Amino acid sequence: MSVAREARLVVGNDGEEPLELILEPWGDVHRIVPGETGVVLTHTSSESGAWPGTRLGDEPFEVRLGPAWLTVWVNGDCFHLYDRKGDEIEPYVYGGCPAQQPSA
Ligand SMILES: [Zn+2]
Repeated sequence: MSVAREARLVVGNDGEEPLELILEPWGDVHRIVPGETGVVLTHTSSESGAWPGTRLGDEPFEVRLGPAWLTVWVNGDCFHLYDRKGDEIEPYVYGGCPAQQPSA
């Protein structure tokens, strides 16, 4: 039984305006208010541990900055969004999460 590989990206807003956090390729939008920090977590089920959505090398995330938004491309099979204390911000998970599949 293989264990899914996991990667985390911490995203914080040190500005004075709310920041739109866009999670691609799902197009899911969350608002990060000033002073707030979130953690994006992804898993891959790849046997080699590679990230299936990677475009340049073998990276779990790609971050693109706009004037009032931050786009995070998640290159794993799923994403989870937590606050800094580890509490899940949304009660659901996008994509097929290899870490949450029931064991056969
Ligand atoms: Zn997952």
